[in-house]
Amino acid sequence: MVKQKKLVAVLAVLFLFTTAAHNVFAQASVQDIHGRYLIEHDYRPSSSLARTGWLSDYYPELLGTPGDSKVYYFEGSKPGGTLFVGGGTHANEIAGIMAAVMMIETLNVEAGRVIVVPNMNSSAIGNQEREPELPAYTSRGPSWISIRTSSGIRYFKYGSRATNKAHQGVADPSGGYVHPDSSEAPLAGWEFRNLNRAYPGRSDSGLTQKIAYAVMQLLIKEKVDVAFDYHEADAGGRLANMMVANPKNIETAAGALFDLELDYGLSLKLEPSNMEFRGLSHREWGAGTDAQAFLIETPNPAMVADAPDDVDVVNDPENPLGSRVAKHLYATIAVVRLFSDEHPDKAIRFSGLPGFEDLSDKGLGPYLQ
Ligand SMILES: [Zn+2]
Repeated sequence: MVKQKKLVAVLAVLFLFTTAAHNVFAQASVQDIHGRYLIEHDYRPSSSLARTGWLSDYYPELLGTPGDSKVYYFEGSKPGGTLFVGGGTHANEIAGIMAAVMMIETLNVEAGRVIVVPNMNSSAIGNQEREPELPAYTSRGPSWISIRTSSGIRYFKYGSRATNKAHQGVADPSGGYVHPDSSEAPLAGWEFRNLNRAYPGRSDSGLTQKIAYAVMQLLIKEKVDVAFDYHEADAGGRLANMMVANPKNIETAAGALFDLELDYGLSLKLEPSNMEFRGLSHREWGAGTDAQAFLIETPNPAMVADAPDDVDVVNDPENPLGSRVAKHLYATIAVVRLFSDEHPDKAIRFSGLPGFEDLSDKGLGPYLQ
């Protein structure tokens, strides 16, 4: 009898454990009425949200594929310009995703519009496969991160750098990947599934190229004035703490970085897009649309070459997630402020985001819904 009671207790604990785990992981494979294969993200938009849409609204062939992704539109009561923010181009670069989520949950837009796509590569966010041909840093990290908020513990999906091979629809080129407009030497074959080598995209190629094509159509159709692509790089490496700007808007970038240094003591490096290297967002968005195009790189501890597998991507003592998210958001604010001063008829004004120091020091928890 005692043994039986013990067994029941053990089974009950096991049941509770697997149910809790199931609740989190059940979110990973949801299909909506259109057959869209999607991760059901727990994002809780602010009251400034005007509506949501999909990347497939700009390129219907994405509908029902794992490349479709939700688009959040925020509108002010006054007319103005349009800001676009993309996170999760590389789904292992969690600060980019969480900066976009922080915008979704706290934005109060007064003038103009803000369009946010938190998971630019929706296939990569569900791709946790360790592929031997990809460097370890491209998929190292947890499947989910957890953040304690005033409404309880919340979970956010962490993914990989590349589109899931099973979703791409076309095999990786065996002779290496060459962008169709590039004259440079081939990259590794898997780079065919790297969204940030695929712009301006193609309608007659793999899923990654189709996602890029849809994003370009969004930027054009929505007449985006300022566009940001949020990334992370290996902490301590050359790219970390950098803003990359299309040459046509490098002066705005330089001015913004000067202001960030002055206002917050935040030093970011600045680099112009290499116009010879094809496929990157800041290069192709700036060349193919009217948008001023920027990319931010923050230091992710999981992307360091010899980082341990159980590296803490949220509470890293050197580069906690809050400080990385603050860098993305405040670099964006500094650029938008300069753009708005220079183009008063297209001013983009918003508030609601947590303060730079508050977010850096306290993390995301106090500010998420
Ligand atoms: Zn990246």
